[in-house]
Amino acid sequence: MTDCLFCKIVKGEIPATVLYEDEEFFAFKDINPRAKVHVLIIPKKHYADLASVPAAEMDMIGRLHSVACRLAEELGIAESGFRLVTNCRADSGQEVAHLHYHLLGGEKLAVFA
Ligand code: 5GP
Ligand code: ZN
Repeated sequence: MTDCLFCKIVKGEIPATVLYEDEEFFAFKDINPRAKVHVLIIPKKHYADLASVPAAEMDMIGRLHSVACRLAEELGIAESGFRLVTNCRADSGQEVAHLHYHLLGGEKLAVFA
């Protein structure tokens, strides 16, 4: 989508610290890290949020989780542990309307309800 912040990052129109890229996914450092390691993992294809992914395309989520686990290994946080989370729509506090997963770790994370 032309006016989407994360689509612009994928296209290189907005700079980001890119940690991973393949045909389907893109991962980059969060600009406002909430943990020692805070990476955003997104599909290159634009979906507004998790609930907007068509049922027939949900297998993409499994592949994204697989990328997240590989990245966690590479970043040295697989053994110590990490959190993988996505916010979906207003009540979650989602700010950017392009599906993204937060990969958080590198320190003890606050427990949330
Ligand atoms: P949300 O609240 O939608 O789940 O998460 C959006 C995330 O995107 C936030 O953690 C925020 O810090 C991050 N973010 C917002 N704008 C930018 C940007 O221009 N570059 C990068 N790298 N991250 C961004
Ligand atoms: Zn987008």
